Amino acid sequence: MNNFLLNLEDIKKYDLRKYINEKYGMECNSNNMLHCPFHPPDRNPSLSIFENYDGIWMWVDHHVLGGEEKRSGTIIDFVAKIENISIKDACIKLLEEFNEKIWRGKRKN
Ligand SMILES: [Zn+2]
Repeated sequence: MNNFLLNLEDIKKYDLRKYINEKYGMECNSNNMLHCPFHPPDRNPSLSIFENYDGIWMWVDHHVLGGEEKRSGTIIDFVAKIENISIKDACIKLLEEFNEKIWRGKRKN
């Protein structure tokens, strides 16, 4: 893992709206709300995406009330949830994905 150029802190600062659009083809509306992919059909977009004060991008699922289900998180939690994989596997997947992009970009030059 030490050979990765981007670490998880960098990845959490990547525009989550952009990532979700690039990776899953979903687009936020002008209020940065997304049709929640975890509870389809979500006719009125109820998942909000925003950049935190510390530069980390977060999502909040507003239509899950109470219970034990996690309602918010970073890109890591989003990927774990949508891909139905563990947090650890989501971290590995993101590290590989983001760094692969860099390596591929470098090879072109
Ligand atoms: Zn939802």
